[in-house]
Amino acid sequence: MYDNKDNIKSIIEISKYLFKKKLVSGKAGNVSARFKDNGMDVIAITPTLKSLGDLKEEDIILVDIEGNNLTKGVPSSEVYLHLAIYKEKKDVGGIVHTHSIFATGFAFSDKKIKRLEGFGEIKSPYLAEIAYEKPGSEKLATKSAEALKNEDVLILKEHGVIVTGENLKEACLLAEFVEDIAKTQFISHTLNL
Ligand SMILES: [Zn+2]
Repeated sequence: MYDNKDNIKSIIEISKYLFKKKLVSGKAGNVSARFKDNGMDVIAITPTLKSLGDLKEEDIILVDIEGNNLTKGVPSSEVYLHLAIYKEKKDVGGIVHTHSIFATGFAFSDKKIKRLEGFGEIKSPYLAEIAYEKPGSEKLATKSAEALKNEDVLILKEHGVIVTGENLKEACLLAEFVEDIAKTQFISHTLNL
């Protein structure tokens, strides 16, 4: 797979892209990638309380699958959310969490986002959702991981969006796509008023 440096570079690149595209703003949002080091899962994740638009290589934190730091620094407060998903979904190599405006607008409403092709196993006409749990909590982590078992996208009610991919780039592109379809559906709801 990749060595550490490539993973860290890819996290910085994707974080900046998400910021530039306004899928994350301020110090919100977090991104991680999984890779193998001597057969062991290592997760590279963005730090807490820093803008994704302005990260440097030394800001990215490496943790093991249980959340023990392998490098210095404080990882995102959602690190356990990321780890729970990596444990549940062995094929996931990258995770993006945003509060992107339109998708999160749906999350704060009683409207759901219609599912289009490319969102995993189709069991419902809408993107999967879970009820509100406190950000950073263990409940949010376990419920999200369970709900994402057969899905790539999950709407966290009254919070935001979480997207998984076989690698970070895929997760990022899907997060961008989710935001765009939410925008389109917002417009169609408005025109239909
Ligand atoms: Zn969040």
